[in-house]
Formats: sequence, structure tokens, C-alpha cells
Amino acid sequence: MEPFERQLTRYAELIVKVGVNVQQGQEVFIVSQVDNAPLARLVAAAAYEAGAANVHVDWSDDRVSRLKYDHADPEVFRSFPAWETLKRGSFVEKGACFISFVSSGPDVMKGVDPQRIGDYQKAAGAGLAEFRRAIQSDKVAWTVVAAASDDWAQKVFPGDPPEVATEKLWLAIFDAVRLHADDPVEAWRAHDGTLHGKVDWLNGLRLRKLHYKAAGTDLTVELPDRHLWVGASSETPAGIRFMANMPTEEVFTAPRRDGVNGYVSSTKPLSYAGNIIDRFKLTFALGRIVKVEAEEGEEILKQLVETDEGSHYLGEMALVPYRSPISESNILFYNTLFDENASNHFAIGSGYAFNVEGGKTMSPEELAASGVNVSVTHVDFMVGSAEMDIDGYQEDGTVIPIFRNGNWA
Ligand code: ZN
Ligand code: ZN
Repeated sequence: MEPFERQLTRYAELIVKVGVNVQQGQEVFIVSQVDNAPLARLVAAAAYEAGAANVHVDWSDDRVSRLKYDHADPEVFRSFPAWETLKRGSFVEKGACFISFVSSGPDVMKGVDPQRIGDYQKAAGAGLAEFRRAIQSDKVAWTVVAAASDDWAQKVFPGDPPEVATEKLWLAIFDAVRLHADDPVEAWRAHDGTLHGKVDWLNGLRLRKLHYKAAGTDLTVELPDRHLWVGASSETPAGIRFMANMPTEEVFTAPRRDGVNGYVSSTKPLSYAGNIIDRFKLTFALGRIVKVEAEEGEEILKQLVETDEGSHYLGEMALVPYRSPISESNILFYNTLFDENASNHFAIGSGYAFNVEGGKTMSPEELAASGVNVSVTHVDFMVGSAEMDIDGYQEDGTVIPIFRNGNWA
């Protein structure tokens, strides 16, 4: 096998070429933990190599963040600094692309007062609303990718010593992003084509609603009239193709905001704001979450649902076969970027503007009118299993089997 350094370099190149597809003269904004400096440096180098005019790295550190949660004045969590909003805004204006490394330990904020977490999510959600809109309408190229950390690796491979666990996690990340293919860029092109094939099939069906059945789940989800299924690569207004998530195995659309009824149970733990929420069940009536139950992390889950009015509704429904490369790795990642790509999932909160025809240029009010949910938050949670059946219903009542026993029917 190649030395680790070499693999990390190729990963950085893949992020720059396929992830955000850096253009000549473009600015690049990287969000990284200080522990991931080696990857950030390699990505910066690859970005300049690709012609970037400027690379900015926005550093953070979970340990400093934890100190803040434990000791800062409670008022600090109720507002979001205006300069942070301006900083992102100025890069969006310049047409920058955005790269975020996810690497946090799944429960680094365990034990923090849920009220502080809820307050901060609310304030940050509002402060970054404009930025979220730019992302969720493909105005800018962006990608979310993973970087291993000791905290995270320890949770995924608890039986191994720290260095072994972290190395194993890096290898699992490299596998999931097809870095071990002969030509990873080509492998992504082929994968993009496969997912777009599913997208075309689903869009051709013009489904009115989907019915999910599994142990702990009996849920009906209606779709907006002009809904669009989407998957893999996206395109900016300037026609630059990018991959918003790496890995990605999902095809997804927006549920109709007021058209969700029944109940759904989680099938994997959800790491949210540094806390684990597990074995939970949500009950819906006319789209609204009317009951929240969780065996672990119920307080945090309730804080999430109470973020704003829109966080009481769903914004995304995504289909991922149970038999997918990530689920076949049999690794529970405790990280949504991975676990959502091994399982059917939904997202609490805002929907993507591109999930309805003409949505990319709609105002939040117009999106809401077309059935897409609007919120300052967006959090995916996993519900798929080997037992899940999903039926699609067309306008005239024709039933189309979509999933059987967790896989494409
Ligand atoms: Zn998703
Ligand atoms: Zn999502």
C-alpha cells in the first residue's frame, strides 16, 4: 500500500478537483480543526496548484469550544458575531468555494447544558441563514468531507489503541471516497452517472407520495407538485460541477412540508452538536412533529426540534440502499456524513431549493409556498434498515414498489 502521506495528498487533490472543482482565480474557504492542519495544508497546496487566487482557512478547536461551553457567560450563546456573518458573506460575494472537514468526536460536548447548545444552534442558524441559502441553492460550490481525529476514531474503534484506531478510520474514509480506485476521478464520474440514473427514474415516475414501512416506522410522505429528485454532483449558476458531500450514495428530494403523517424510528445513533441521540421515534401530523421520544439524548433532540418553527418539519427525504459500500463496511461511524450514506434518511429543518423546479431563484416565501420547508437548521437522521419497504403512489393511485427489504425494488 502507498505510504499514508501519499494517500493524504491524493485525497486533498480529490477534494479540490471533484469536491469543489476549484477554478482559475477563485478564492477558497476551508473550515478545519487545528488537529487537521496536515490535510488543510495539502488541500491549500492543491487549490493553489489548481489556480486558486487565495485560500483562507477558518480554524477551530473542539477543546477550546468545550471550554467555552463549560465556562463562558450564558449570554455568549444567545448571539452570533456579526463579523462571522460578514466574513462568510464576503467570500460568497466573491464567488469562493467552501470546503468543510468534519472530524469532531461524536460526543465531545456530552454533559454540556442542553440549553446552551440549543441557544447557540439558534443564534448560529440565524447568523448564517444567508450563507445557508447560498449553499442550499447551489449559488456557490461547496463540499463536506471527512478528516479522521483521535476523538472520533476512538468512538468508532473503541478496542484499538489511539494510533491504530485513527489509522483505521483514515483507511475507512479513503475507501468510502473511492481513493483506492485506479483512477479516483474517473470512479467518481462513473458513480455520478449511476446515481443520476436513479434520479431520472424517480423523476419520471412523478410520485405523489411514498409510504415507509418497517419495525417502528409507518410513515406517509407526500411530495410537492414540482418536486425534483437530485443526487451526486450539482452545478453552480456558472455551470461549475461540484460534489457537495464525499462520500455520497443518496438520491433525495423535499417532502411536502405539510404532507408527512405517521411515525418513524431511528436505526442509527445521531451525533448532533457534540451529543449522541439514539433509539428515537418522531410522530408527525400534517407535517408537524407532534411527539419526540428518545432513549438517549431526548433533551438535545427536543432542543433541535425547538430551534425554530421550521425545525418542527422535514426538509429532506433521501433513499440509500441497505446494500451500499458504506453499510457493507459494517462500520458504525457515529458521523452523519457516513451513516446517512449507509441508510435511508430524512432531515429535520430546511429543504434544498433545487428540490423543486425553479427553486434555485425562489425567495424563502416562494419556496414555502411551493411546499419546501424553511428553517435555520438542517439535520439528517437515519431510518433505513434491511426490513424497510417503501411504496410510491402515482397520481392515479398506481403503486410502484421503490424499496423492498432495504434495497431498490
Ligand atoms: Zn442527505
Ligand atoms: Zn441533509
